[in-house]
Amino acid sequence: MTADTITAADIRINARWLVPVEPANTVLHNQAVIIQGDRIAAVVSREEADARFRVRETIDLDHHVVLPGLINMHGHAAMSLFRGMADDLPLMTWLNDHIWPAEGAFINEAFIADGTQLAMAEMLRTGTTTFADMYFFPEIVTQMAHDAGMRAQVCFPLLDFPTPWGSGPDEYLDKGAAFIRDWQGDDYIMPAIGPHAPYTVSDDPMMRAVALSADTGAPIQIHLHETEFEVAESLEKSGRRPTARLAELGVLGTRTQCVHMTQIDESDIALLQQSGAHVIHCPESNLKLASGLCPVQKLEEAGINVAIGTDGAASNNDLDLFGELRTAAMVAKVVAGDAAALPAHQAIAMATIQGARALGREHDLGSLEAGKLADIIAVDLSDPFLQPVYDPASHLVYSNHGRQVSHSWINGIPQVQEGRLTRIDVPDLMLRVQSWSDRIRKQ
Ligand SMILES: [Zn+2]
Repeated sequence: MTADTITAADIRINARWLVPVEPANTVLHNQAVIIQGDRIAAVVSREEADARFRVRETIDLDHHVVLPGLINMHGHAAMSLFRGMADDLPLMTWLNDHIWPAEGAFINEAFIADGTQLAMAEMLRTGTTTFADMYFFPEIVTQMAHDAGMRAQVCFPLLDFPTPWGSGPDEYLDKGAAFIRDWQGDDYIMPAIGPHAPYTVSDDPMMRAVALSADTGAPIQIHLHETEFEVAESLEKSGRRPTARLAELGVLGTRTQCVHMTQIDESDIALLQQSGAHVIHCPESNLKLASGLCPVQKLEEAGINVAIGTDGAASNNDLDLFGELRTAAMVAKVVAGDAAALPAHQAIAMATIQGARALGREHDLGSLEAGKLADIIAVDLSDPFLQPVYDPASHLVYSNHGRQVSHSWINGIPQVQEGRLTRIDVPDLMLRVQSWSDRIRKQ
């Protein structure tokens, strides 16, 4: 090699193991990931990296598996401040008697800012590089994510009734349209539309949300078929199942993300299939609220894209997506009656490339390939509880805990180094969290 064939780059990550996600079902050994600016320049053998690149910084990860950053496709970040406040209750009691009154009493811009930062600290620390959020004051969530350099799809809320963010559908949609205009095209932020659920949004605002999505290209995310009660109530009120009603209103499409989808039958699956809508599976929230379970294997066999989310920390109660993957893989086997359902690599795909697909960003997120954005994490497998290593993909799903994440980069910028957050001041954040919990406890 002569000097003129050598390319200058920024960072070289030497990985003992690499799970690139694309190609699927692949574990590579002793690879180098080269980062140039905010993109992956190459994924090559170490010998080829020596020959082709001269870099500013080299990071040796000799006991680590390197993979794309995880994509948490559903949550309510600021609800982390309600973690552990009300447990062991069914969804409607939990919402009516605990969550909605607490939200009425405490939600304001400062609560959203501090709660979102708490959630981001946990997500970054456990391997998530992109999260999808649906909550009040989306402009605050957006600012926090943008300032921290974390990638986020942020939905503005849409409901029939007033909340601290607006008086009703007219105001939500006006503010929401402005929010989309303000943030579309940002490096980190994907603004989106968040009609809360079929039972809280009536036909007219639902159709206006569809029109706004068509005008702007913004995705729609909605809680759908979360409980048996939701389906029964819809049948009683409109004579249709929630999915059928939304299909008639034009809500289902390739830009639509349906969160939960428990309690579904063949007619619901057919509508998802025809529309190209995505499903966001939140198994731990569904288990904890006894909502039911999403038949993931069946959906994947029907060609429906399934991504994964933790839901809010008040119904999980953590935002560790590795823990969620483990639960998803275990539960899928019981639901399908088949131990081969949702194998490890497929579970990892659900939290990476399939999340990217749900966002419409599979061209630049969700796998380690040259040209994609440098959203990368490393998991340290040297601990006794992760030894020995026969198959790192197995460990990522069945043995790992998110706290083993040692490094993370978003847009090529370090977010976690040696297990420490680089851009969030944790001691200062903990003081603010303490102050909120003191006030909430008194209520
Ligand atoms: Zn939710």
